Amino acid sequence: MPSYRSLYVEASAADTAVGRALVAQFADRPVVEITSYHEVFSRPSESFQAQKRAPSLIAAVASPPFLYEAPSRVCARPGAPPGELPVMYNDQLRNCVYNCDYCFLQGMHPCGHTLVFVNSEDYHEAAADRAKRGPYWLSVSFLSDIPAFEPVLPLVRGWLDFAREHPDVTVEVRTKGKAPPLLRSEPAENLVFTWTLSPPLVAARHEHGCASPANRLIAIRAAIERGWRVRLAFDPVILLPGWQAAYAELIAEVFTSVPTRAIEAATYGVFRVGLDHANRMIAARSDTPVLHHPFVSAHGMLTYDEHEIEAVRRTVGRTLTSYLGADRVAFVHA
Ligand code: SF4
Repeated sequence: MPSYRSLYVEASAADTAVGRALVAQFADRPVVEITSYHEVFSRPSESFQAQKRAPSLIAAVASPPFLYEAPSRVCARPGAPPGELPVMYNDQLRNCVYNCDYCFLQGMHPCGHTLVFVNSEDYHEAAADRAKRGPYWLSVSFLSDIPAFEPVLPLVRGWLDFAREHPDVTVEVRTKGKAPPLLRSEPAENLVFTWTLSPPLVAARHEHGCASPANRLIAIRAAIERGWRVRLAFDPVILLPGWQAAYAELIAEVFTSVPTRAIEAATYGVFRVGLDHANRMIAARSDTPVLHHPFVSAHGMLTYDEHEIEAVRRTVGRTLTSYLGADRVAFVHA
């Protein structure tokens, strides 16, 4: 279980079944009642990284909206004609148990503590309401790696139950973790696990706390053997020295141990973060070279220049395509 040092709980959240269960989990640690999560989560001039090193959990009750339209830089679904299925995301969990150097959350949130909204039923109801307008794709881990939080609160389990009752909603759970115990459940046809993969050097240097690429691969195999739908994401591709060979080796290793037919699709992308968030995270992180690349500003984002992007398409894109075919590979950008 993630080691949170204390719990801040909104009075309204403490008065719910989930809130009471969380308070019980923190019987041996400080529990502080607050009026609004903003008192802790939205304080200016906090150090995101200092809070990540000794995180607290904040439990609150969310207000609507419980569902957002995903921008194109978040999603590209290979195999689907553009516009065929709308893509939505939600924000029940903000910030992450893991701590990747390139994570946009450190530019988006003023606070490094984890914020969880306890009113799952409102998120599920909003997702069910949206399905009345037609099928769609729902990303439930855009603002966190929710399987990593499962030991604290079984959010993925809740979305699995939701998926079984709402076949028109395809729920995507994205992770850089080991195989979650949930994989032992009966798979749902409309719940997809996407594992994000990076070469060992990138993972060791820049993906703090995440499972090793070898353990992610073990998880992928376990998910496939159990019959789950599985996708892969190579995102962001990090241009460290020797990156072409590192990504080629990684992709070759994946498809040596996993049959290509078992991978529904793969996406890949490069660092791309909205200007405000990017500038904030770069200013706060002099300690990691990954954020001090000579990025360019394009489409309102900070990203690699067009030659670098083309090089990523030529190498990672073509290699993935050679295994999966063009219709199962997509580049995600602006
Ligand atoms: S796993 Fe994803 S959400 Fe979590 S720190 Fe890394 S990039 Fe951010």
